[in-house]
Amino acid sequence: MNNFTYARASSLKDAVQKATSDRNAMFIAGGTNLVDRLKVFLDQPSQLIDISRLEMKQIEKMANGGLRLGALVTNTDVADHADVRRNYPILSRAILAGASQQIRNMATVGGNLLQRTRCPYYYDTAFPCNKRQPGQGCPAISGINRMHAILGASEECVAVNPSDMSVALAALDAVVDVVGTQGKRQIPFTEFHRLPGNTPERDTNLEPGELITSLIIPPLPFAKSGVYLKLRDRTSYAFALISVAAAVDLAGDKIQTVRFAIGGVAHKPWRSKDAEEFLIGKTAETTTFQQAAEIALKEAKPLSHNSYKIELAKRAIRRALTISAKGGGVA
Ligand SMILES: Cc1cc2nc3c(=O)[nH]c(=O)nc-3n(C[C@H](O)[C@H](O)[C@H](O)COP(=O)(O)OP(=O)(O)OC[C@H]3O[C@@H](n4cnc5c(N)ncnc54)[C@H](O)[C@@H]3O)c2cc1C
Repeated sequence: MNNFTYARASSLKDAVQKATSDRNAMFIAGGTNLVDRLKVFLDQPSQLIDISRLEMKQIEKMANGGLRLGALVTNTDVADHADVRRNYPILSRAILAGASQQIRNMATVGGNLLQRTRCPYYYDTAFPCNKRQPGQGCPAISGINRMHAILGASEECVAVNPSDMSVALAALDAVVDVVGTQGKRQIPFTEFHRLPGNTPERDTNLEPGELITSLIIPPLPFAKSGVYLKLRDRTSYAFALISVAAAVDLAGDKIQTVRFAIGGVAHKPWRSKDAEEFLIGKTAETTTFQQAAEIALKEAKPLSHNSYKIELAKRAIRRALTISAKGGGVA
């Protein structure tokens, strides 16, 4: 770990000012991802700006029935919140499927969105990595890549986003509130994370110095039947090989509306609008869900060790949609 100075932000304005006046400064919230990264020299900030005491710790019910989650609400408090459990079980279950109780007690909403990939080549500074240092190359493309992307990857980077919570938020059409030197703005969740393209060092569309202040989850009555299915090497304390967050709204046996997002397949949670549109008006049955899964994965390009992910993702989509169509529950 390199030396850095520590400063505690006294307000949102102070946090943004500190971050923009020192381009090598970084925010720290729960520290459960950043401190690990500091220890292995992935990040070498000149300054840590501690935002953990700022007033962003509330979960508020909004006038339209949606929820606003402060950026510093812990993952545990989101997952345990009565409204989240009742109305957005996808979100609660996605969070509980990740990390451990102790980590979730420290981890925050904002930090979860900005955790970085678990690609082993990114984590091991003995290897080159375009995400760490643009222009170095990507050894994962010809290396051990069973955990890596099958959708939206580039010749520069095949890493996947590791956040379970983000998969649920993508399916729920959440919105990210941020503040920077230019003031406040909102970023639709599906546009928050980026595909790698030729700038794999950028995970998100946040501008330098911008701070996440809260997340808005719109009202979505049928999200009550939502399902989060996570498939992984171990049933605990492991990142997703494939995950699916899905919610189906039925009128009789016909699909009125549907949302689903896939994790473990790309540099961002993956939504297939084509597959969702295909499902509208169809009968909720296995063959329909299978066809939607085929559409969602039609552009998949496997690497040498991860072609298994294509079939796994299709089956996970089918299963998550089937369970949600039957009223939801644990997948
Ligand atoms: C052993 C282990 C297992 C894990 N397993 C899983 C898992 O299975 N699934 C899963 O989803 N996650 C998993 N995690 C990751 C965990 O969820 C994240 O570490 C955590 O959510 C990060 O939150 P934090 O508040 O600690 O972030 P920090 O570590 O404080 O920060 C992370 C990043 O976010 C930035 N940041 C933080 N808050 C803000 C803000 N408000 N605005 C702008 N920038 C901000 C920081 O600068 C930093 O770059 C695991 C972590 C560990 C250590």
